Parts: sequence; structure tokens; C-alpha cells
Amino acid sequence: MNLELTEEQTAVRRLARQFADREIIPNATAWDRAEAVDRAIVGKLGDLGFLGLTIDEAYGGSGGDHLAYCLVTEELGRADSAVRGILSVSLGLVAKSIAAWGSEEHKRTWLPRLCSGEAVGCFGLTEPGTGSDAANLTTRAVRDGGDWVIDGAKTFITNGTWADVVLLFARTGDAPGHKGVSAFLVPTDTPGLERCAIHGKLGLRGQATAELVLDGVRVPATAMIAPEGKGFSVAMSALAKGRMSVAAGCVGIAQACLEAAVDYAGQREQFGRTIAHHQLVQELLADIAVDVDAARLLTWRVADHIERGLPFATEASVAKLHASEAAVRCANNALQVFGGYGYIDEYPVGKLLRDARVMTLYEGTSQIHKLLIGRALTGVSAF
Ligand code: FAD
Repeated sequence: MNLELTEEQTAVRRLARQFADREIIPNATAWDRAEAVDRAIVGKLGDLGFLGLTIDEAYGGSGGDHLAYCLVTEELGRADSAVRGILSVSLGLVAKSIAAWGSEEHKRTWLPRLCSGEAVGCFGLTEPGTGSDAANLTTRAVRDGGDWVIDGAKTFITNGTWADVVLLFARTGDAPGHKGVSAFLVPTDTPGLERCAIHGKLGLRGQATAELVLDGVRVPATAMIAPEGKGFSVAMSALAKGRMSVAAGCVGIAQACLEAAVDYAGQREQFGRTIAHHQLVQELLADIAVDVDAARLLTWRVADHIERGLPFATEASVAKLHASEAAVRCANNALQVFGGYGYIDEYPVGKLLRDARVMTLYEGTSQIHKLLIGRALTGVSAF
């Protein structure tokens, strides 16, 4: 693995860092308190080409490789995970799935709009009754002449209240488990699709999370992406790369914790000297630093495998599992460095801890990733 960044990767990281410092960090606390990120940020992410990373320029993308994608995701995660999630879902799960599985018509219809930020995508897999066991989803699509008619419900859908299109997973036919699942691109203004905002989240409070209810939603046969019955492969391939993006966002959280804790330790004085002089405070800082480096290297390894065409699903599970648990640990350690001031939201670390916590839950809980890694090691499924 080459650990040196190219000129292009260095430039994109600098651009993302400047953008995050100027446009996101000054607003992040207000968006968190108001439970709403300013929608205008999506267009700005598009203008800079961030929403088109790794997508072919012929479809409005900005090219770039997966390490550049990780670097931008890390910088957004350092600034505000609620904003990072917009990109991870709209680009990482939706646009990249369309690029990988969609027809020429799907690509021409949706990719330029998703890459520019004119449109936002959401990913509709989880249902009220099926979370980790997503293959047993019950939303159903029934063929009616040249159309499909879809009924069911999805929950916890990131970007849900904003999105213009949902990559929706539904059961077609009678095949059991993952074999019976197909994937559809459904415009969110299709009659019968209702969206209801989910409020009161512990973290990612600025993010537009929604429940989707589908009551007789009619779409043409051309809305299906990938062959009938291949929808679960679409979902799993999206999530494998998506886990790299979540891991990169966690690296960003951990990096923000490191910067905030080192800075505070150098300023706060107790017992006649800055707390940076106390060995047990240095231990907290050292633990954060080691977690940051390990999480970053594991995440970059996934990008390296993708670029070299090597298998990367287990590496993505390893990176996501480690980085998400590390982000929680780093935020908790940083909060300890801040003492009581860490507990109020005028300082950044409380929000970092709340935002980090969900990372061990979505795109596969920590338990699910341990089972995936265990299956890869032993050849035995323990699900
Ligand atoms: P459950 O699956 O009910 O799990 C509960 C507990 O049981 C967990 O600890 C889990 O690890 C454990 N468990 C379950 N099965 C096993 C097993 N076999 N062995 C050991 N332990 C097990 N979904 C989308 O489709 N699109 C989105 O955009 C999206 N965004 C989200 C945003 C947020 C803020 C949140 C909170 C969730 C989001 N999700 C989204 C859903 C997320 O992916 C699910 O919450 C996750 O898959 C877990 O499902 P669950 O919450 O139903 O928990």
C-alpha cells in the first residue's frame, strides 16, 4: 500500500478541509440544536465536485479515486457527521449503485442531478420489522401490466425527507430471503409515497431522517435497477463500499477529538500548570492518537483494495468495526480531557460523542460485522 498522497489527493483534501472550516464548522452547533442542516450545503458540496467523486465525468461526475473519496469524507466527518451522511448516502449508496447497476437511461436521468446536488438520493432498505436481518424485508412489489405496484414501509432513512429519489428494496415474487428482493429507483414525488420525519435522535440531529410509507406506489418496469431478484446484491455491494465511507467519517470524528483535546490540554490549567503536563491526561491523548492512526490506515486499505480490484468486503467490515468503536472511544476520552466543559454544547466534544455513537449501529451493527469477519475466518455462518 502506497501511503503517500498524490498531488490530486492532497489538493482535494485541502479543498475539503478549507470548505469544512469555512462553511460547516461555524454552523454545526446551530444545525444540531435546530435539528436541521441548511439544505443549501448540498449545492455547495455539488459545486466543489464532492458529490461526483469516483463517478464518470460523462455522467456529471468529477472522477477521482476511492482514497480521494475517503479524504473528503473524513474532512466532512471532522466538521459535522450530519453533513458527511448526506454525501455518504446520496453519492456513496445511491449514485454509485446507479453507476454500477443502472441502465444507460438510469444513469443519464439521475447521475448528473445527484452529482451536482440538484437532487438528493436516499437508500431504502431498513424496515420497522427488519434491521440487521434485511434479507427478510417485507415491502412488496407486484407486477401489474407494464408497471410495478409497491406497498410497505421503510424506516430510519437518511436524507428521507429531502430526497428526490429513493433506491428502494422490495420483495418481488415468492422466492424466500435475499433471492426474492429487487431494487427500484422511485422518485419521491410518486403518488402513494408518504414521508414522515423522525425527530429526537441522540446524534446526527441535523440530518433529515425519515420513515417512508408506500401505499400502492406505481412505477414503470424501467424503474427496476439490476435484474429481478438481484436487488439484495445491489444493496450488499453498495453497503460494502458504504462501510468504507462510514469508517472514513469515523476517522474524521476521531481526528476532531484529537485536535480539540490536544488544544484544550495545552490551555486549561490545574494544579499550577496546563493539564497537558499531567501524565494521565497524556495517556488519554495517546489513546486517541493511536485509535486515529489505526482507523485511518484500515480505511485507506479498503480504498487501496478497491482501486487495485482486490476483494474488499471483509476489509471494509474490519475498518468499519474498528473505526466506529474507535470514534466512540476517542470522543469519550476527549470529553474526559475537557472535564465538565465537555458536557455542554458550547464545546465540540459532546456532539462528537453523540454523533459517533450511531456509527456502531448503522450499515451493520458491531455485532453483525463481528459475525461477517468470523464467517470469513472460519467459513461458518453464525448468523
Ligand atoms: P436490530 O437488527 O433489531 O438489532 C438489535 C440488536 O441485536 C443490535 O445490538 C444487533 O447487533 C443485535 N443483533 C441482531 N441480530 C444479531 C445476530 N444475528 N447476532 C448477534 N446480535 C444480533 N437504514 C437504511 O436502510 N437506510 C438508511 O439511510 C439508514 N440510515 C440510518 C440512520 C440512522 C440515524 C439510524 C439509527 C439507522 C439508519 N438505518 C438506515 C438503519 C440501520 O441500518 C439499522 O438501524 C441497523 O441495520 C440495525 O437494525 P435495527 O436498528 O433494526 O436493530
